[in-house]
Amino acid sequence: MEYSGRCACGAVEIRILGKPLAVRQCWCRHCQQIAAGGPTHNAVFRAADIGIEGPTASHDYVADSGNILTRTHCPACGTPILGGSSARPDMRAVRLGVLDEAHGLRPTIAIWTSEAPPWALLDPALEQYPQQPPAPPAPQS
Ligand SMILES: [Zn+2]
Ligand SMILES: [Zn+2]
Repeated sequence: MEYSGRCACGAVEIRILGKPLAVRQCWCRHCQQIAAGGPTHNAVFRAADIGIEGPTASHDYVADSGNILTRTHCPACGTPILGGSSARPDMRAVRLGVLDEAHGLRPTIAIWTSEAPPWALLDPALEQYPQQPPAPPAPQS
């Protein structure tokens, strides 16, 4: 499978050759900050399947788990591109918003729902985790 995408200004392009391991919605506080109040929507891919062209900037922080999380965005327009965790260096969470339309992916899991604001509408069809869920199955190489 192949996916392509770009940031809002077009300076960063992404191409993915592979199948997502999971598609999740994350309501953690950090995600609410980068997603302007709502959750982020992420497709988890093998890091090796992802190619990025164009300049990117990133920001690291230490999560409650002690893992270092790295968020990558376009330095020109600020569009979040992807995130990664030191716990799973073989995986990246690609922000669904950067993928070109008609990608066909939709979240099936909502995580960190304990940090969602009281007005959040959580789709009961989603598998829900109050905090971090178990990692997706290990990538098959
Ligand atoms: Zn941009
Ligand atoms: Zn999050």
